[in-house]
Amino acid sequence: MTSLQPRAGVHYPRSAGEFRSWFGTDADCLDYLDWLRWPEGFVCPRCENAGGWRVADGGYRCASCGARTGVTAGTMFDRRRTPLTVWFEACWMFASQKDGLSALSLQRGLEIGSYPTAWAMLHRLRSVLVRPGRDRLTGTVEVDETYIGGEEPGLRGGRAKGKKALVGIAVELKEPRGYGRARMAILADGSAKSLHAFVTEHVEPGARVITDGWTGYRGIDKLGYAHDPRSQRAARARGEDPGELLPAVHRVASLAKRWLLGTHQGSVDEAHLQSYLNEFVFRFNRRRSRSRGLVFYRVLELAVAHTPVRYRDLVADSRPKRKRPSPPGRRGHPPSLDRPRASQPWRAS
Ligand SMILES: [Zn+2]
Repeated sequence: MTSLQPRAGVHYPRSAGEFRSWFGTDADCLDYLDWLRWPEGFVCPRCENAGGWRVADGGYRCASCGARTGVTAGTMFDRRRTPLTVWFEACWMFASQKDGLSALSLQRGLEIGSYPTAWAMLHRLRSVLVRPGRDRLTGTVEVDETYIGGEEPGLRGGRAKGKKALVGIAVELKEPRGYGRARMAILADGSAKSLHAFVTEHVEPGARVITDGWTGYRGIDKLGYAHDPRSQRAARARGEDPGELLPAVHRVASLAKRWLLGTHQGSVDEAHLQSYLNEFVFRFNRRRSRSRGLVFYRVLELAVAHTPVRYRDLVADSRPKRKRPSPPGRRGHPPSLDRPRASQPWRAS
């Protein structure tokens, strides 16, 4: 994953007009993915050797082991049935609309015939948003749990009474005010085991962790955190509103619930709640990004680094996916975004 700063109009489109002029054909889209995946030229995913020849179908033959690799092979776009131009349009809509969009809006916007196709495209996109090995939260972090969900209109229509899911929330506090990044994950329960696991997975040791007085948080000071429990009873005794003890997590929880009700009309089934939470957190953490084109770039960057997502994986699971995908293999050299060429903005000359 690159740490260099991509530039507007050079590495990603600045506007819808620019987007359309860059990605008119499947070949344009394939070329862009090729550059995103191998910014300094092809590196064989099988033997990790740099260098190969373009073959007729747009892929490469490795100069060392001779293996053929398609540009989208082993990425989120592997074995797609939908044309890349339609996929790119979906990614653009996903990124350029600040609150995202529902499967129904995507189906209408792209004039896709089938709702399940639009639904699966959005779920594929959601599934790549959590980068393996992403940084944990640092500094001062509020941690709490909340219940989310309830109604479950399923993919096949019909409404089943759903359960509410217990969701852990962690939010960085900024000095002197404001919030940093957030994390949300479904918890098995409110036990110390579940809460300790949530904290260690999402918060960097050394951070100051603010929680309420719940017993499940006891002992996190022994896991390397400066624990700052806030007693609701003490707040009440001081005449303060105990609901305001953890303002950051409550703010994020209410934004998430409003987003699920607004963009998705609450039609989120429990089995896929975690992926909706991932999308919400992705958007929350980029809420100050002025360029939607940059968000589009980040989504595609994650998509080419991600292993394939099969439709049956999206629909067959009755439980949310807790297992993280394994990180992509280290490429031979660091990617570079310098040296753009005018005719093909993203392509290094
Ligand atoms: Zn090879």
